[in-house]
Amino acid sequence: MSRSPAAVSAGIQVDPDEFRRSVSLFATGIVVLTCEDDDGKVHGMTVNSFTSVSLDPPTVLVSLRAGKAHRLISRNGRYGACILHEDQQSFSTHFSGRPQEALQPDFTVRHCLPTLRKCLAWFECETVEKVQIHDHTLFVAQVIACGSEGGAPLMFYGSRYHRAAIAA
Ligand code: FAD
Repeated sequence: MSRSPAAVSAGIQVDPDEFRRSVSLFATGIVVLTCEDDDGKVHGMTVNSFTSVSLDPPTVLVSLRAGKAHRLISRNGRYGACILHEDQQSFSTHFSGRPQEALQPDFTVRHCLPTLRKCLAWFECETVEKVQIHDHTLFVAQVIACGSEGGAPLMFYGSRYHRAAIAA
């Protein structure tokens, strides 16, 4: 007999602090999402919810709270995703709402969407499905172009930035 999600969760109490602590132990990279704003300028936003979903067709997703990037991506139906190098922590800070005065982000259009000129890997993505989950929206997207360059990733683990120790 299957049970509805409400029945499954009835009576289950997960401590929010423990959930936050435990889920922060899943190490991720850092991605700057890019999209065009109302004036045709590039808007950027830092995320670590970027995930590869399938290889064929090449599909990714990001999970976003309501905000400027959420609004623009909903309207445009597409976004760029740029995986940061280990020396790009200031980009992550900047695009998460704490502007870094000295930073001059440089964007380029490789196929048809703007992405950071310098990054470990870039993706141009077209949204194929939007799924609302509580206060977040999953933007599932097909990758229409991508590329990469050498280097090491910026990592996020335990709510802090790290440099990856690449295994030999
Ligand atoms: P804003 O906060 O208005 O924009 C982001 C910032 O980037 C602003 O300071 C803006 O001035 C600046 N900016 C944008 N474009 C440019 C440009 N072209 N030139 C110069 N400056 C520019 N939130 C989620 O919903 N999902 C996640 O997965 C997620 N992961 C995160 C991971 C990390 C490590 C961190 C630090 C934050 C994460 N966040 C995530 C939070 C998110 O990055 C912030 O809430 C962010 O501020 C939301 O961006 P916004 O588009 O709503 O608008």
